[in-house]
Amino acid sequence: MDRAPGYEPGGLEVRTLSGAMIFQTFASGPVATNAYVVACESSGKAAIIDPSPGSFESIKLFLKNNNYIPDKILITHSHWDHIADVAKCKREYAIPVWIHPLDAPNLESPGADGLQVRIPIEGVIPDHLFNEGDTFPIGDIEFRVIHTPGHSPGGVCFYSEHLKVLISGDTLFRGSFGILSLPTAQSDLMWKSLSNLWLLPKETVVYPGHGPSTTIGRENWLPEARKFSEY
Ligand SMILES: [Zn+2]
Ligand SMILES: [Zn+2]
Repeated sequence: MDRAPGYEPGGLEVRTLSGAMIFQTFASGPVATNAYVVACESSGKAAIIDPSPGSFESIKLFLKNNNYIPDKILITHSHWDHIADVAKCKREYAIPVWIHPLDAPNLESPGADGLQVRIPIEGVIPDHLFNEGDTFPIGDIEFRVIHTPGHSPGGVCFYSEHLKVLISGDTLFRGSFGILSLPTAQSDLMWKSLSNLWLLPKETVVYPGHGPSTTIGRENWLPEARKFSEY
């Protein structure tokens, strides 16, 4: 939810040896939420991740200009700032929406989680529910779902072992983490989720839901995240 300090908008790219994967950021809406398009250059296939408020037109233009074909919409969690443009994207491309079952009710009825919805948001019924350990492709690259409850019950990260890339939603930001003063947040689960992320390779590049990218190794406080509960 919180806008991280030092935020700067702009595109980010990660290239691999076996073809290229593009990570394009669209920081949009009242709290500068990072929507992403992750695209596979060799296949032209792409995923839209967390289409934030007002991101739809930018995403559409980017996909068109680069001839990418989106085939799924992935949601890290259902807070209003991460789902605001899901309905527009789904209508435009007629592609399935994927979310964790514990966050599905708030996608269907925004505000059902008791968190104030700051702008009108059209609910969407998800097409596919994923769970811890599920894998899915974006073009030629496989990603894995890591369930990271805490900030929200159905919060997830998407991890590519091949690329060493993590899309972290509001679980992990550069230098901080998603707020826990929310009706459905659970601190104890969050400390466990954050310390689990520390087990990933330290060179893993992290693309968060707000603010600039980081690496797992840079966030060396992760195994001791529980200490933040004192503040
Ligand atoms: Zn957020
Ligand atoms: Zn959030």
